Amino acid sequence: MQIDNLPDCPCCGGEAEYIETMYGAGMLLSASIRCRDCDLHIEHRGVAGKIADTRAKVIAAWSCRVPKNKLCLIVSQYYYSRYCFLAVYNPDTFRAQAMACVAALEDYKRPQGDPRSINYGDLSDEWYRKGARRYNVNDSGDIYFVMGDSVDELLPEIRDYYQSAERERHLDRRKGTAKKIALHHQASVVYGIVKSIFNLI
Ligand SMILES: [Zn+2]
Repeated sequence: MQIDNLPDCPCCGGEAEYIETMYGAGMLLSASIRCRDCDLHIEHRGVAGKIADTRAKVIAAWSCRVPKNKLCLIVSQYYYSRYCFLAVYNPDTFRAQAMACVAALEDYKRPQGDPRSINYGDLSDEWYRKGARRYNVNDSGDIYFVMGDSVDELLPEIRDYYQSAERERHLDRRKGTAKKIALHHQASVVYGIVKSIFNLI
């Protein structure tokens, strides 16, 4: 399987390759990344059905071997819908990227012709604190940036957000919510915006 944006080897700068290997009679899958030039090799193993988690773990582990690279969870919420993305970021450029992401998402999520200036929430000059554990923006739907040290630490939060989305979708009795979501919070559009600004895994 080809992985886009796989960082070059943090050790020697060589080209990295991603490999998935089945073992244990097909019950288990290992995801590994190795450098074609040196011996650096990182492998994570997991049950076959959870290959997406295992893949995210190994890519995060590899990416975070590059000094300065860190991991964060980006969440966009609008009515009951929520989308989660894992990104590798550099603290030196994080705030500018996050602000660009917020501006683009608000432009899409707000009603057309909304006269308000962009609301940067916790990323604004007034509220920004470098090194915070999370940054919230409450606008036309919320946007969260949750900093983490590992995929394992962030996975429970991702599951919570998607479970809340499912629960609230079932409880939503308002007419027209699905139509609003289709207009202002399509998964593919949100993904395109976030991916154009952050290095997603
Ligand atoms: Zn190498």
